[in-house]
Parts: sequence; C-alpha cells; structure tokens
Amino acid sequence: MPFDKVDDLSERMVRTQIQTRGIINERLCSIMKRIPRHLFISGIAKEKAYGDHPISIGHGQTISQPYIVALMTDLLSIQKNDKVLEIGTGSGYQTAVLAELSEKVYTIERIHELSKHAQLILNGLGYDNIYFIEGDGSIGYPEQGPFDKIIVTAAAPIVPEELKNQLSDNGILVIPVGDYRSYQVINVIRRIGTLFEVKESIGCRFVPLIGKYAFDGE
Ligand code: SAM
Repeated sequence: MPFDKVDDLSERMVRTQIQTRGIINERLCSIMKRIPRHLFISGIAKEKAYGDHPISIGHGQTISQPYIVALMTDLLSIQKNDKVLEIGTGSGYQTAVLAELSEKVYTIERIHELSKHAQLILNGLGYDNIYFIEGDGSIGYPEQGPFDKIIVTAAAPIVPEELKNQLSDNGILVIPVGDYRSYQVINVIRRIGTLFEVKESIGCRFVPLIGKYAFDGE
C-alpha cells in the first residue's frame, strides 16, 4: 500500500456516491477512500476531482465517474492473486484501484501522452505491479494472456472475440457495449470452459473504444 492517509473528500465520495448506491464491498470501499483521486487530474480544484461525474483529462478523454469505477471493479470480483488486463488506462485512477486489489495489472492505452502521464503518477505513488502498454487494446494482450479479469473502460460496439479468448477459465470480462454516440450497457461475461455466460448490468456513457475490433477513429 503506497499511502495510508484517509482524506475527507474521498471518504465522503465513497459514502455518498458508492455505498449509498449499494456497493458494500468493504475492501474496495476502503481502497477508494485512500487513493488520492485528485492527483490523477490536472488543472482542477481538488474538491471537484471527487465529484459525482466524469471529468475531462484532455485528448477528448475522461476519467470515469467514481461510482462507475466502483461498480465495474465490483463486478470483476477480483482476488488477490489475479492477473488483470485493463483496456483504456486514461488517467490511471482505475488502474490504481485494480493494482491495490490484484497481483498484476497490464494496462493498455492508445494515446501516448495519457499512458506516460498515468505512468508518472502511478510510479510516483509507488506501485510496482503495473505494466504499461501503448497500443490497441481491442486486440487484447495475447503475449501475457490468459487473464483472470479483463476490464474495458471505453464503449465497444460488440464484445471482441479476442478479449473473450484471452480469459482464463472462470475469468470475467467487464465491458460497456453499445453505440458511443448514445449509451451503452455494462456487460459481464464469465468464461466457463468453452462457454461464455453473459449478464447485463446498468446503462452508462463512455468515450469510444477505437481500434481493430472496435470503432474506427474517424
Ligand atoms: N479508466 C480510466 C480512468 O480511470 O481514467 C478512464 C478511461 S477513458 C473513459 C477511456 C480510455 O480508453 C481513453 O484514455 C482512450 O484513449 C482509451 N482507449 C480508447 N480506445 C482504446 C484502445 N483500442 N486501446 C487502448 N485504449 C483505448
């Protein structure tokens, strides 16, 4: 654990935005109370960083709303020795949550500047279990698969087969699926041998996943 000071803002964020909406995962809540979310967002007042909404991080991208970070993480049911793949590093905030809960996190980002910035912050906070990759995460990261958990933090038009195939047995993929111009539904896909069980969670709005098995960049 790279830090241990509980901040009033993050404590209030977890209490009023996450726990009141039904997320009771104690380990996750205590981690989100300790991670200094404001460090991941440049150029805004500290208090705004803990608000109940997504925030621009430049390059047309956003850091997700705290509740969505908590919900998607909760849906992954991460165990301490899990190997996790995250697609869409963005600010690196979700990456920090994943790195606190699991053994290893591979995180892929297509925008060089965002990947570098996230790396700077996360390395500065002392994380040594995060591996940063720049490129198209819609093809996954077969070099290091299979993964126990995969999370996609951008809107995908369909669930890429490549990602399903990089899940280990009993592995879980959490991915928002739908049109990025309107809204998406968070899909939770569990691999059971050669079968995939699909469940739907809530509706959401994400920026597009852009890549070979996703939206094109035009
Ligand atoms: N989880 C992030 C956080 O906590 O800040 C928010 C991620 S933001 C909503 C989505 C990110 O996915 C953007 O940074 C975007 O550049 C990235 N992205 C979009 N398509 C991608 C792809 N094919 N591979 C990797 N990253 C991608």
